[in-house]
Amino acid sequence: MKKKIQKINCLLIEHFGIPERPKRLPDPLDIIIGTILSQNTNDKNSYKAFLNLKKSIKHWDELLQMKPSQVEKLIKVAGLGKQKSSAIINLIKNLKEKNGKVNLSHIKKMNDGEIIEELTSHKGIGVKTASCVLLFALNRNVCPVDTHVHRILNRVGIVKTSTPEKTFYKIEKYIPENSAHSFHTNLLRLGREYCTPTNPKCYDCPIESECNYAEKNFTSKKPIKKNDFFLLDSIK
Ligand code: SF4
Repeated sequence: MKKKIQKINCLLIEHFGIPERPKRLPDPLDIIIGTILSQNTNDKNSYKAFLNLKKSIKHWDELLQMKPSQVEKLIKVAGLGKQKSSAIINLIKNLKEKNGKVNLSHIKKMNDGEIIEELTSHKGIGVKTASCVLLFALNRNVCPVDTHVHRILNRVGIVKTSTPEKTFYKIEKYIPENSAHSFHTNLLRLGREYCTPTNPKCYDCPIESECNYAEKNFTSKKPIKKNDFFLLDSIK
């Protein structure tokens, strides 16, 4: 599995390049809140919602002084306002009650497994969100698995799994050193531009030679639309 991941990572880098990262690692809490906002919407809208929240407060705990409807309004552009605002407010409330402070600096000394356990103990935080914190805020060599990554890794034949979480645990030991960020980000881009849920553009796909998908599409040739704005690398 490691060799195949390595090969695919190289092909993706040859095609897309090494994805850029911010010079300074972002705050873990910013990454969690960004990930909550990103559910079921695109990265541009979730980034707008994130900036709306950030502009209206100096510190996340100020959200506790706001009415839930105000928070909902600020993040409306990302959709599912009620659900997302209550997940964010609950998380902040829980952190304050559990640790006495609204930040996640205590997780920095923990190992990957402990961090996942700690973060997923909060209602509404799943393994994907926790793994985004590990990769984007703590620079651990961990590859978060969303629906794009899950779909592609199943199609190419690296895993045969039924959920993103199962895929995450299957591949976690096999990510080559220092490659998680490029592998994850380039797979997202591949999933948006080429390996779409329907009518994948196998005719132009940069990893076609490594892919075992039985239903490859070589017929309807459509131009590729660039889609390379990534929310979690835009949070600074
Ligand atoms: S060849 Fe087709 S199915 Fe395979 S990864 Fe590329 S786009 Fe997806």
